[in-house]
Amino acid sequence: MTELGRKQLLIGGVWRDASNGATQPVVNPATEATIAEVAAATPDDVDAAVRAARTACSGAWGQIAARERGRLLWRLGEVLTDRIDEIARLETLHNGKPITESRHVEIPMAIECLQYFAGWADKIHGETIPVKGGQFVYTRREPLGVVAVIVPWNFPLLLTMWKVAPALAAGNTVVIKPASQTPLTALALGELAAVAGLPPGVINVVTGSGASAGQALVEHPGVNKVAFTGDSATGRGIMRSAAATVKPVSLELGGKSPNIVFADADLDAAVRGATIGIFYGKGEVCAAGSRLLVERSIKDAFMSRLIERTKKMVAGDPLDPKTRLGPLSSRGQLERVLGYVEGAKREGATLVAGGSRTDIGTGKGFFMQPTVFDAVQPDMTIAREEVFGPVLAVMDFDDVEQAIARANDSVYGLAAGVWTRDLARAHHVASRLEAGTVWVNTYNVYDTAAPFGGYKQSGFGREMGMHALESYTQVKTVWIELRS
Ligand code: NAD
Repeated sequence: MTELGRKQLLIGGVWRDASNGATQPVVNPATEATIAEVAAATPDDVDAAVRAARTACSGAWGQIAARERGRLLWRLGEVLTDRIDEIARLETLHNGKPITESRHVEIPMAIECLQYFAGWADKIHGETIPVKGGQFVYTRREPLGVVAVIVPWNFPLLLTMWKVAPALAAGNTVVIKPASQTPLTALALGELAAVAGLPPGVINVVTGSGASAGQALVEHPGVNKVAFTGDSATGRGIMRSAAATVKPVSLELGGKSPNIVFADADLDAAVRGATIGIFYGKGEVCAAGSRLLVERSIKDAFMSRLIERTKKMVAGDPLDPKTRLGPLSSRGQLERVLGYVEGAKREGATLVAGGSRTDIGTGKGFFMQPTVFDAVQPDMTIAREEVFGPVLAVMDFDDVEQAIARANDSVYGLAAGVWTRDLARAHHVASRLEAGTVWVNTYNVYDTAAPFGGYKQSGFGREMGMHALESYTQVKTVWIELRS
């Protein structure tokens, strides 16, 4: 028996095994131990979950007044808060992220997101429109129906909530397909939905593989929208599959975000921002500042401080509150990241910190040293592809135009950072960067009220803020003839 036992699918308020009895293991990346077995949903299970979500959408959930819907979502936030220690621990156990990140940053952000959108539930409305024929014309902002929520393993509950909260606030129901590696907190969310009093079928959770459960969900004609975060290649496949049933999709995909340090920046703050930008979340962060561009005149001074700070970061047990660097999320991810390190050396980048697997004295776990490459050229693989690990690629530039050109030289456009004391330059560069988010003199900050999403191949659609609601509603125009 594993530490957390066997977990079932949540379909229409009922917990059940996969229809063929299949399960898949969940591994703790810090210990390599299997901590749970979860059901691996079949296409039949996915069909049952979509049907349950449809029934709830037109039934119990659809008939609840918007204000009451908001109250139930707020209540769910309270129930999650009551269990926050347990949920944060689960997040750390299946992902490996330091408990301080789960307990004090990400699970609180997920709850805040839910309660922010709870407040929107009764404020989503249409408008009246003057038309030349004099008819009375108004719009209604209606839910789409059933939303498929498909998420990766790096921020399991937070990325789920960025989709579930606006979807439910707008009156939709959801079928969640968490990543195979990290299904535990989505299952906990499903369990607590019942405690909070949400009707059965409003939140359904189908665990299992992307190729089977995920694909069946995307193809299902009863799903009205796919909200996806994950790899760019998977996202392209989802767009193609969704075309068959003309489903809207929103995609939050990868990134290769530039963090630009000008010579006039507060160097201590910029060094802090550069390290947080790449090493928070072990670098398994879509918006990681993985390309650091430093103005040549300060590069040597900057690099010595950056390397000193990087070398102080030591991997530790993620359940220890003092740990700031946990293991990568899986063996496969560790191998992939180490492959990029070898590739960067072969292509001629200079390794100035880290570069190897490490361990915390147990001989187990997918731990990796924080790694920095200097003398990276814009055409090297390490400057172009998303590594999704604690690996920083450092380049230089000579002036503002070259900084902007190098920053924009990517197929991605998720986020960017700018470090300068020159206010005019900060605004100018922010306006020229091809990125959905620009942070000036800070990095990796988020707020539920502020939209987040990609430019270019980092995807489309916005999470959080009022913009997210547009992705989960459709507009109906009603014409009333006033002449009798
Ligand atoms: P992934 O694309 O392999 O998996 C994401 C999810 O999609 C998982 O639940 C997976 O099971 C499912 N899936 C896989 N194949 C599928 C298919 N054919 N049909 C339907 N679902 C399928 O990505 P990953 O490796 O888990 O996550 C890492 C990626 O996520 C990185 O590229 C990262 O940049 C990206 N990411 C982006 C953001 C953002 O907001 N832009 C945030 C976090 C992560």
